Amino acid sequence: MRGAGMPRFRFTTWGPVRGDCGHVHRTRPAAEACLRRDQHGCARQGGYSDRRIRRIFNRADIASYDIRYGPGTRDAED
Ligand SMILES: [Zn+2]
Repeated sequence: MRGAGMPRFRFTTWGPVRGDCGHVHRTRPAAEACLRRDQHGCARQGGYSDRRIRRIFNRADIASYDIRYGPGTRDAED
C-alpha cells in the first residue's frame, strides 16, 4: 500500500516576473533551496526574485499554465 491515498505532490518555483525555474522538485526543501539560489543570483545582479513555491503534480503542470496565475497551486505554507 505504498503511497496509497497520499497525493504525491511535486514542487516548482515561479514568480510573475521571474517565471518558473523549470524544475520538478521532489521535496519542498529542494524547492526552497532552488528558491534561495535564485534569490542569491538575483541579488548579485542588484535585483530580487519574486518566485514562490508552487505545488504541482508533474512536468505537464509546468509545461503549460496560465502565466497570470502560475503553475499548479500556491503552497499552503507559503
Ligand atoms: Zn527549481
